[in-house]
Amino acid sequence: MNSLAGKVVLVTGGSRGIGAAIARTLAAHGADVAITYGTSRDKAEAVVAEIRALGRRAEAIPADAADAAHVIAAVDKTAASFGRLDILVNNAGNFLTGTIDQLTLDDFERTFSVNLRAVFAATVQAVKYLPDGGRIVSIGSCLAPRAGRGGISLYAASKAALVGLTKGIARDLGPRRITVNLVHPGPIDTDMNPADGPRAASTLAALALPAYGQPDDIAATVLHLAGDAGRYITGAEIDVDGGFNA
Ligand code: NDP
Repeated sequence: MNSLAGKVVLVTGGSRGIGAAIARTLAAHGADVAITYGTSRDKAEAVVAEIRALGRRAEAIPADAADAAHVIAAVDKTAASFGRLDILVNNAGNFLTGTIDQLTLDDFERTFSVNLRAVFAATVQAVKYLPDGGRIVSIGSCLAPRAGRGGISLYAASKAALVGLTKGIARDLGPRRITVNLVHPGPIDTDMNPADGPRAASTLAALALPAYGQPDDIAATVLHLAGDAGRYITGAEIDVDGGFNA
């Protein structure tokens, strides 16, 4: 049992998919949980209701990850509402595709503002609150180390940048025993990448395990990193990808 009793967690992008599963799992192991959302207010409130039904405190905070000021305010709001912040999970992300002849500078800004700058902004602000022994977990992608197909250069680049950010911050915060890690999901059945979507057949062919993963597969690894069981893991990239990169 990797208990998180008494801990306060902020999960960005917790209204749907992987982020919602992480929020539910950490709450089921004792944490109080704040989630951010962009547009899915009803879904975010439903996740909050589920967590409160477990007897935990929960709050949904509207915060567009493309706006660093929103992200910073969400960190402050979490600490103010719950009185502390122990664990930051940087999950919110977008998946903007196109081959290099199709992409624009606006695509670059949209991708990097959400997938990289928001992670930086949230982390800088969270470090002001995290106690010694705190946790930072970011959600990368199996496409960070290996693109694997065309049309995903911006997304892959934004997730690859998280590798350097994670390892560097792990070095900075090691003396305070704050761990900083990056989980690389493979194809996980969510709105972003449905298991019955147009990419599914070619995706399955690229895996060692011939199936899509579920959001709970990622949540289980985040739980391990977030609790005491993860205390000696930092600066790591952890593949939870069905063998996409095997
Ligand atoms: P979904 O599209 O299913 O959910 C995305 C979540 O992020 C939603 O809660 C959404 O909020 C939030 N979000 C997106 N953009 C913003 C924004 N600008 N501001 C605030 N919140 C935002 O995606 P997944 O659950 O599949 O993905 C979660 C993470 O996992 C992402 O970082 C993604 O890159 C990564 N990933 C996913 C893979 C997959 O196969 N599914 C594979 C590899 C990595 P709202 O509901 O309000 O829009």
